[in-house]
Amino acid sequence: DRGKEAKYPTREMIDFTQIHINKLPRVLIMGRPNVGKSALFNRLIRRREALVYNTPTDHVTRDIREGVAKLGNLRFKVLDSAGIEAEASSGSVLSRTAEMTGNVLSKTQLALLLVDARDGVLPMDLDVGKWLRKNAPGMKTIVVMNKAESLDDCDGTLASAAGEAYRLGFGDPIALSAETGLGMAELHETLRPLLEEYVLQNNLCADEEVQDNDSSSEHMECKLPLQLAIVGRPNVGKSTLLNTILQEDRVLVGPEAGLTRDSIRAEFQYEGRTIYLVDTAGWLERTKQQEKGPASLSIMQSRKHLMRAHVIVLVLDAEEIANTRRSMKHVEVVIARRAVEEGRGLVVIVNKMDLLRGKENYKLYKSVTEAVPQEIQTVVPQVTGIPVVFVSALEGKSQIAVMNQVIETYEKWCLRLPTARLNRWLCKVMSRHSWKDQAAQPKIKYFTQVKARPPTFIAFMSGKTQLSDTDLRFLTRSLKEDFDLGGIPVRILQRTVE
Ligand code: GDP
Ligand code: GDP
Repeated sequence: DRGKEAKYPTREMIDFTQIHINKLPRVLIMGRPNVGKSALFNRLIRRREALVYNTPTDHVTRDIREGVAKLGNLRFKVLDSAGIEAEASSGSVLSRTAEMTGNVLSKTQLALLLVDARDGVLPMDLDVGKWLRKNAPGMKTIVVMNKAESLDDCDGTLASAAGEAYRLGFGDPIALSAETGLGMAELHETLRPLLEEYVLQNNLCADEEVQDNDSSSEHMECKLPLQLAIVGRPNVGKSTLLNTILQEDRVLVGPEAGLTRDSIRAEFQYEGRTIYLVDTAGWLERTKQQEKGPASLSIMQSRKHLMRAHVIVLVLDAEEIANTRRSMKHVEVVIARRAVEEGRGLVVIVNKMDLLRGKENYKLYKSVTEAVPQEIQTVVPQVTGIPVVFVSALEGKSQIAVMNQVIETYEKWCLRLPTARLNRWLCKVMSRHSWKDQAAQPKIKYFTQVKARPPTFIAFMSGKTQLSDTDLRFLTRSLKEDFDLGGIPVRILQRTVE
């Protein structure tokens, strides 16, 4: 469906935003004059500022513009090659330019060779192709037929342009329009596997091997402001709990500039950490409505709101559980499941435990403390060990138990494990497990954490072997046990490598 501006997938495996700007892969835009290089460059960097290197040579200003491109989930450095183009098309050898372009080429991972789809492939385009092959042998080059917005698959104009583009010898071309944005999703789909491969091979996402006692990089991510949501049905004690948390010198201040104002209710400091309280007022009322009718837009929006939180605290009422013999109502089940599906950290608080004290309540007390963790496990079987804290918000110290658990969950959620350590672990784990027969043993080439928040891993499978659901469960369980990741959603994805 070329030509439609398709939606970019929202959840991606590799978080390009976590890569340092100087380490981003570099993509060079090449092509003869007027094919639309600047137009594509500008579209890719959008409003971001471009850095311009001015290299005046022989009275001609040759410049290479560099900017950070954002395309769907992808981020990369993009270079617009006015200087190279001039040299390539004129055939003149300007030593300074050659030197400069040599520098650029050696640091570039990919080239986009632009042609004008309406003109087809001209001799000058072939020259640019030849120049690239000579000066950057082996560089992955993608032919981009620009200005394709008015060409039509039906009358064959696009097909014939594509046919011509093969003459450049760089494989399948893609068609787009830098001016209208048509076909950018296809560019995304073409670039994605190439850039992801580069990121993985160069280990740009996973941290370098760090000493086990040096967790500075893990630390940094955990120091990012924690977005916390406290949810529960009316009267379970959310406000009371929140007031205890915010007591003393922890001053309640308004949202910081730059944050979406409607989603943050308060900012506070807890033991040197900044915590944003995500506003969830009205969420439950809307969820109740939803139980009756179809989901409206506003419900969807408020759900999205809640799911911005890193850690979700779900408050239950101990007295109610004791009276009704049911830990979770429908709405609470919905919240717990959603939180886990969305990869949030979940902490369950059972409040008003003071009402179940005393000898006469012993049985009730015991049954509540046993039933709640069991029921959570049934509700979200995919995450074992979701923490449950029993408190009384009316009494002092409850906030400490709650916040300690919140922070513990958040730190696990942020954890990053170095690739070398993971692969040593994998080796041990695989030998610990016995498969029915040798052939059934999955062949994992290597294993790496692609992102934190929540921890997400990729198993690179060699050849045609695949991890079965049982294998995935086994690996997830082992990861959680060995790295103390219980209670948070951990994801393992698999990829095939040759
Ligand atoms: P460069 O010399 O390769 O950097 O080309 P420019 O980006 O300056 O574009 C040359 C001309 O082509 C300008 O007039 C642009 O407006 C036009 N142009 C660029 N992209 C497109 C496109 O996708 N469709 C059409 N119709 N015109 C385009
Ligand atoms: P919210 O609607 O969830 O914000 O609930 P509130 O914080 O307003 O509390 C509802 C009622 O429960 C109030 O009367 C509180 O005093 C009471 N409450 C809250 N926490 C506790 C607790 O730990 N023990 C007891 N016994 N009552 C509590």
